[in-house]
Amino acid sequence: MNIPDRVRERAERLADALPAYVYDLASLDRHAAAVRRALHGVELYYAVKANPDPALLHTLAPYTDGFEVSSGGEVAHVRSVLPDARLALGGPGKTDAELALDVHRVHVESPGELRRLVEVAGPADALLRVNLAVPVDGASLAMGGGATPFGMDPDGVRECLDLLRGQNRVRLRGFHAHLASGLRAPGLLDLAKAVLAFGRDLASGQELPDLEINVGGGMAVSYQDPEELFDWEAYGRGLEGLRDPGETLRVEPGRALTAYCGWYLTRVIDVKRVHGEVFAVVTGGTHHLRTPVAKGHDQPFAVLPTGRPGTGPTDEPVTVAGQLCTPKDVFARKVPMSVNVGDIVAFGMAGAYAWTISHHDFLMHPRPGFHYLT
Ligand SMILES: *Cc1c(COP(=O)(O)O)cnc(C)c1O
Repeated sequence: MNIPDRVRERAERLADALPAYVYDLASLDRHAAAVRRALHGVELYYAVKANPDPALLHTLAPYTDGFEVSSGGEVAHVRSVLPDARLALGGPGKTDAELALDVHRVHVESPGELRRLVEVAGPADALLRVNLAVPVDGASLAMGGGATPFGMDPDGVRECLDLLRGQNRVRLRGFHAHLASGLRAPGLLDLAKAVLAFGRDLASGQELPDLEINVGGGMAVSYQDPEELFDWEAYGRGLEGLRDPGETLRVEPGRALTAYCGWYLTRVIDVKRVHGEVFAVVTGGTHHLRTPVAKGHDQPFAVLPTGRPGTGPTDEPVTVAGQLCTPKDVFARKVPMSVNVGDIVAFGMAGAYAWTISHHDFLMHPRPGFHYLT
């Protein structure tokens, strides 16, 4: 994949201090600004679990209306970084202590959770998380569209509406959905239409003058083709066209905002041929960047020829593995390349679901450094 000059220069300067993560905050700033413009009047929350790094949160803050958080830990973290940010607390399995936190919105996952929220909230503004039986074909992850632990089917939603009557601790503001991940703009717009129709229908029977609908995240990111970006223009136009006056529409992407700004830099420590296949072993491993294992893809990368010429193959299929003693520790399989011992391998698209989803302590290798390009 292409590596921007500034990332390449930093990688070469860090050559003796790898593995390391480099976050290109300037490119994140440009990207977030473009997403913000494309969304017109639709609100943008960032799903913090994709990457909670404080520098990224600071970079995103000017372009976002709030942050979607999924635990008490994330609430405390974002509050410490951005004390005034609006927070929407989601996630299945919230404890009473989490439900009692003072946040802008609570995304209610079940009638049982709503009962506990009514008891502990003091008070709270809630969106009901719906899981509609709509097709989610083509998605890389399905959180809805059928039986899953996420959100409620229409029966559960109606049970919640009954529970909400005759109490005043929890105020219903609208509906939330996050049905699938990895869909392109047309697929996500179809889901948004279904969620809007469902929400408006239920809202018409309630006292809900300023209906809010959060249609979630899940905007597609292609690890096969890093140049293929989600069509924010089409999505923003589509959503803006669906929005009724007086309604608040909100999205909460994670991956498609921060994936592109992160680089995980490693160095080739050994090249070998085993039973006819070539392996390049790099410092670090999937305990720092679990994304390719978790998603089952080849992580895109660039090789910087900083190594010793003649110590590796020219234009041959190479499998890039890490330092862990497990056959799962593979970043990419049989990718045609030229590589030598000492070359830098820069894995791109490592800004979301990367460091924080990785099993850092397995084998007790040192942690990577973290560096920021401003
Ligand atoms: C993870 C998550 C998101 C973000 O999903 P992406 O695929 O990273 O855009 C948004 N909303 C909820 C409820 C989530 O769990």
